[in-house]
Amino acid sequence: MMTTETPPNVCLKCRKLLDRASHPEAEPEPGDLSICIECGHVMVFDDGLRFRAPTPEESMRIATDERVRQMRANIQQRQRAMRARYN
Ligand SMILES: [Zn+2]
Repeated sequence: MMTTETPPNVCLKCRKLLDRASHPEAEPEPGDLSICIECGHVMVFDDGLRFRAPTPEESMRIATDERVRQMRANIQQRQRAMRARYN
């Protein structure tokens, strides 16, 4: 897993500060998807590696992308485990 520092961004949904991106083998590039580690929200890196909302076309692709579905499931599972530990 490669982790790359990015400009500081806040999640467009939960406002978590995010300044790193992890990927199995690549650094983030404009147009790549970013999935918030906190809430699983899916965003897109713009030309300056800042978050923007997906376009309607991108949203359609995201909705049917099996890798995105799997990653979001992993994040939600981790969140449930964290909540169970602290409740
Ligand atoms: Zn978030």
